[in-house]
Amino acid sequence: MKALLIGECREGKLLDSIYELIGFAALLGADTAMFLAGGDSRLPSFGGRLYLADALKYGEYNPDLHKELILAAVRHEQPDYIVFSHSSYGWDLAPRVAASLRIAQVSEVVALAAAGFEVPCLNGRMRRTVRPATAQAVLTIQAGTFAPLIPGGTPQVERLETAVKSIIEFVGYEAAEMTEVDLGRAEVIVSAGRGEGKKENSARITDLAKALGGEAGATRPVVDAGWMEKSRQVGATGQTFAPGLYLACGISGAIQHLAGIKKSGFIIAINRDKDASIGEVADVLVVADVVQLLPALIERLKNRCSG
Ligand code: FAD
Repeated sequence: MKALLIGECREGKLLDSIYELIGFAALLGADTAMFLAGGDSRLPSFGGRLYLADALKYGEYNPDLHKELILAAVRHEQPDYIVFSHSSYGWDLAPRVAASLRIAQVSEVVALAAAGFEVPCLNGRMRRTVRPATAQAVLTIQAGTFAPLIPGGTPQVERLETAVKSIIEFVGYEAAEMTEVDLGRAEVIVSAGRGEGKKENSARITDLAKALGGEAGATRPVVDAGWMEKSRQVGATGQTFAPGLYLACGISGAIQHLAGIKKSGFIIAINRDKDASIGEVADVLVVADVVQLLPALIERLKNRCSG
């Protein structure tokens, strides 16, 4: 079995997701080649074939041109799978490649199954197993789900060119709004989920985070509801980090949230549902009502500090 992995560069830097793609391919047991729109100065630590397109000429991001270049690599490699990260780059490009080749696409793969690939459904509450009905298929894999693998070595570079003209021009990146919150530096993160019940209760998350010398985080629905600011969102579309302690309060454990917390040293979850999926990744699951437990916990911590 062969896989063509689609690596990514941003502002001249290789993204670590490249090594998650390699980890995924190793699980598949696939022979791997890689495509990258990048430059010679930063090549991945990988000894296989690397189809390299010059990012100075074709842009780090240009779905028209990158699609053509990837199709050229596909013609050379004839892979069974063309594997993207489930990133904004992958979301945009993968369907274009699948449509051009008229092959199946399976998006947001989170696990391999005997019968195919597991992908989340019902807003991450369940998973379904799907199998591409075409011999060749495009896959996108969820960030943070597959353990990275750095095989080492120097790639054998095959340069790719295309004469196709794009109707899209890459203008540049715009940094996201800067905030004072950098969850990446916090040793302790206490996060609020929808189980917190209402905006007023979010103050307790902040109090508990402070009492533990950490920062407050939140799930996407909590941010969408305006209970906490966007800069505190944790997960695939928020921040990803590796604190020593992650305390999840009233959080179900959807895959998009887990993508942000998987590298935490120790995870404690408080949930009133003993079967909540966060229990599968938590080191400790406390089955309790957060609305009742948190005030008592904060009080206790404050007393200890003052006593
Ligand atoms: P819910 O899933 O509603 O869970 C609430 C939990 O609280 C439940 O387990 C319940 O048992 C528990 N609970 C309820 N009341 C109490 C109580 N009183 N005491 C204790 N426990 C209680 N989500 C993110 O977080 N980050 C992301 O970056 C992100 N990106 C996404 C990207 C995409 C493309 C999509 C489709 C979704 C994304 N999501 C993201 C949303 C994600 O799928 C989930 O919907 C979300 O993480 C669920 O948030 P939650 O756990 O707060 O809420």
